[in-house]
Parts: sequence; C-alpha cells; structure tokens
Amino acid sequence: MGARVETDTDILVVGAGPTGLMLANQLARRGVRVRIIDRHAGPSLQTRALGVQARTLEIYSHLGIVDRALELGKRATGGNIWVQGRRAARIPLGDIGRDLSPYPFLLILGQDDNERLLGDGLRNRGIAVQWNTELVGLAQDTRHVTATLKHKDGTIDEVAAAWVAGCDGARSAVRELSGIAFEGAPYEHVFFVADTQVTGPMVPDELNVYLWREGFHLFFPMRGTDHWRLVGILPPNLRARDDLTFEEVIPGVRQEAGAQLSFKACTWYSTYHIHHRCAARFRDRRCFLLGDAAHIHSPVGAQGMNTGLQDAYNLAWKLALVVSERAGPALLDSYADERLPVARRLLSTTDRAFSLVVSDSWLAGLVRTRALVRIMALAMRLERVQKLAFRTISQIGIRYRNSPLSKTLGSLPQAAPRAGDRFPWLRLKLLPNGSTEDLFGKLDDTRFNLIMIGQAAPPGGVPELGDQLRIHEVPSDPANDRELARVHIPRPSFYLLRPDGHVGLAGTHLEAAAATRYVSERLHVGRKDAGTTGAR
Ligand SMILES: Cc1cc2nc3c(=O)[nH]c(=O)nc-3n(C[C@H](O)[C@H](O)[C@H](O)COP(=O)(O)OP(=O)(O)OC[C@H]3O[C@@H](n4cnc5c(N)ncnc54)[C@H](O)[C@@H]3O)c2cc1C
Repeated sequence: MGARVETDTDILVVGAGPTGLMLANQLARRGVRVRIIDRHAGPSLQTRALGVQARTLEIYSHLGIVDRALELGKRATGGNIWVQGRRAARIPLGDIGRDLSPYPFLLILGQDDNERLLGDGLRNRGIAVQWNTELVGLAQDTRHVTATLKHKDGTIDEVAAAWVAGCDGARSAVRELSGIAFEGAPYEHVFFVADTQVTGPMVPDELNVYLWREGFHLFFPMRGTDHWRLVGILPPNLRARDDLTFEEVIPGVRQEAGAQLSFKACTWYSTYHIHHRCAARFRDRRCFLLGDAAHIHSPVGAQGMNTGLQDAYNLAWKLALVVSERAGPALLDSYADERLPVARRLLSTTDRAFSLVVSDSWLAGLVRTRALVRIMALAMRLERVQKLAFRTISQIGIRYRNSPLSKTLGSLPQAAPRAGDRFPWLRLKLLPNGSTEDLFGKLDDTRFNLIMIGQAAPPGGVPELGDQLRIHEVPSDPANDRELARVHIPRPSFYLLRPDGHVGLAGTHLEAAAATRYVSERLHVGRKDAGTTGAR
C-alpha cells in the first residue's frame, strides 16, 4: 500500500437488497465510514425469498433484530409431501436442530420483511440508503476506486472510495464493469410465484409440497388467514407463453394439488427463469462481489438470500480491520478463499436437487414420486439424519477448514471442533457457581473471542489484538463438562474465534508465542503493508 488517499467514504456498498443492507449494518456497527446506494426508488415490495435459516437468525441476534424477525415470521414445524392428491409423508421440521442452534428451525419470513428489519437497523445507526442512485462507472488504481454515479434527474457525480462492495444482484454492474465472467446457464424450466389467499387440503402452518411427474408445487404458509405463497414450474405446454395469467395456471395446479383448492385472491403473480451461475472471481482488486452478484442458483433449499447475508458477514469484519489499519489488506484475500468454495458447492448441490425434482424423465418421475418420498420420510425419522439435514440446510455446517485463516495446533481429538468450523452453540456456566448462560449471547461479534477451557488465559491475553479481544474462561464444573463432552471439546483446550464466530486458532494448550504468530502471519494484524493479490 502506498500513502493513504483521502476518500469520500471507506466503503461504497452498491445495492440495498438483503446483502448490501447486511454489509452496511455490519460495517456501521464497527465504526466504518460507509455509503450505500441503490438504483431503485425505494425498498422492494416483493417477497421473493421466504426462508430464513438458523445461521442467519444467529447473526440477526447480534444485530438486535432477531426478536422482531421471530415475531413477524412463522416457524415451519413440518413439511408434507403430497403425491397424486394423497399425503405420502410428513417430515418433522420443528426443532430438528435442537441442541445445535438457539434457533433450531426454519423461519418463514418474506424478503421484504427482512429488508425492512435490516433497513431499520441501518437507520438506527444513522445511515440512510441513497435511493435513485445507480453505479454506471468504475475506475480503480492501487489506492482507491472512483465510482461514477447517475441520479434520477440524470446528473452524474463521482465518489472516491477505498473499497467497493458489489451487492447489486444478478445483473451486477460492479461485476460487469470489472470484467468478471458469470459462468453458468439458465434452466429450461419456467417458474411461477403467486401470493394467494386459498383454502384446500394443505396442512395449516406447514410446508406442503405437491409432486407430480413433471415438477412440483410448493405451498408456503404466510402471515394472515389462508395466505399461502405458491411456487411451481409451468407445464411444458405453457412455458413459451409470455402473457400467461395466474387464472390460466390454476387448472394445472388443481389437477396436481387437488380439485378442492379454492383461490380467493392473488396479490402478486410473476413468472421467471432461473439461472445457475457463479462469478469466476469474487474480487477485482478493490472491488468485491457478494450475494446474487457473485452466485445465483435454484431456490431449492431456501439458500439464496441466506448465502448473500453470510457473504456480507464474512467480509465485514475483515474490511473493518483493514480500513482501521489494524490488519494488512492481505486479510481480504481470505474472503474469496472462503466464500467461493461455499458458492460452488451450493451451486452443485442445488443443481443436483433441482434436476431430480424437475427431471422430465419417466424413471426420475417414478423415483421422485414414490421411492424417494418413502426413503426421505423414513430417513428423516433418524436423529442422525435429522441433524445432518439441519446442519446442511441451516448453514451452521459451513466451515472454512482449508482457509489460510484456519490453524489447528496440537492434538485435538478428531471429533472436536477444528479451526474453520462455526464454533458450536453451548450453554455454559461462565462464572463459578453462576447460572447456565447461552454462550452465543456472551460472544461479542465485533471482536475476537478467546475461549479458555481447563487453563487460564495468558497474562495480557493476546497483546497484538489489544481491545479487539474478549476472553471467556470456562470454569471446571460437572454441567460444563457434560456440555463440552456433548460436542467433543476436551479439557484442556482453547478456541480463538473470529468475529464471525468461526474458529481461527484452536488447540490444547495456548502458548503466547503461537497466538502471536497466528495473529501476525494469518490475520495480518499489525502488518499494514502486507501485500494482497486482489485477484481472487
Ligand atoms: C421470484 C423470486 C423468488 C425467489 N425465491 C427465493 C427463495 O424462496 N429463497 C431464497 O433464498 N432466495 C430466493 N430468491 C433469490 C433471492 O431473492 C436472492 O438471492 C436475494 O434477493 C439476493 O439478495 P442480494 O441483495 O444479493 O441481491 P438483490 O436482492 O437482487 O439486490 C440487489 C440490489 O442492487 C440494486 N442494483 C442493481 N444494480 C445497481 C446499480 N448499477 N447501481 C445501484 N444499485 C443497483 C438493485 O436495485 C437491488 O436493490 C428468489 C428470487 C426471485 C426473483
């Protein structure tokens, strides 16, 4: 890095969808100068994504918006699979993640509500989205980015930012102006989505999935009486129609999901094509891609919005450390190292799941509608399968074990949490003779957290982290020992957690020199001029 350049803002966030709002919130609460723009006139009123995963709720809890989200949303307690008009299986979803997260369920809460909560949070931090402001140009040198912005009245101005975050959706201007390819293809199927008031055989307050030979219809329970979000794919004979109305879709839905369906109102209806694509790189020097700007995939598994929110949570603490010159810019390389593999894996799993669900082939149809349903229902009765499914879908199972930021020292047992994992949710007595507390509630996600088990923290903590560190010593206690044993954490051990709750450094005995080496070599703390490739 050369001499510091005066910029108008530290970070310019382009796009005020869920990803941009999450990033701006996380930066603002870490004291970073942030500006957020969007080309639209105001917040989107469309529901779009509906499922909020446990990992997102954990982040919402640190942001102070989880109670409101839980109040507004509906917990999905079960999923019912219907085949040829008959309920073939019920998959219990309520609390399948018991002991794994404080939020052991999927919350049904529309994207518009999520955006409103995130927007309110941002306003409370004194930052307003600049609507009607479109990014139309980018130029960068080694020290800053000049962004050209176009306003609604046609005027143009330029903003100098140290870093730009492209949270500008599938048609990302940041991605296109940076010349980053968006590799992938569209699916041939045409989806439709409708917010309806409807009565029928659906099990109230639960997900209802109607499978048919050529596709599916999903009914999501929404807030309000008889209010359901209906998502499906159009039968082949209707795919080519641009002017299709919801009334014309209804007979097909009734044929597959039941003649008793009675539609009373439809407040939103849209058809759309879905693509599966991933950006070739998540970064061009000082410009990053996050959310739909970086990856888009089928909605199977309700992962899209949640993955974008998680991208933002991963990048925010790193940008905050670099902007405040506590860490060198090489720390930022780890954003793509960690999030690109997550996106690629997600694309391949949602692709496989989607292909199975919508395959036109007779054999796949038979497998899907009969054998698969029975196998799924039986398997989901097993606790191990329930937990695996929850870990995967809720995104608490995402880990960065191969990241340059992950270092496991010494001989931790194989089953113990390792560097790169999200540290497990525990209820511990953190004071001798104290009451049991939710550890996640005690962690400060704007700082690093050092958890010491069966040993005292080194005198002076980890001096290089200074006030960026909180220390939690876990006293010896039978209840604590049982809780630690449940997740295979041995005594003694230590875990240095990054602000986003993932383990950075872990081992049995913490030695001050090892911590110092980790902080300097891996986190680049105190290394303002450490280089960065800027190309991932
Ligand atoms: C019909 C539909 C249904 C969906 N259902 C689900 C679902 O059930 N589950 C799920 O997880 N996901 C679903 N998704 C996907 C989900 O909506 C996205 O993953 C999510 O919106 C991504 O958020 P984002 O903030 O990254 O991008 P976006 O929400 O697309 O936000 C990008 C923002 O950037 C702004 N912008 C764009 N270009 C510029 C520019 N040049 N300058 C300034 N601003 C700009 C846009 O105005 C927009 O506000 C669905 C999507 C659609 C279309």
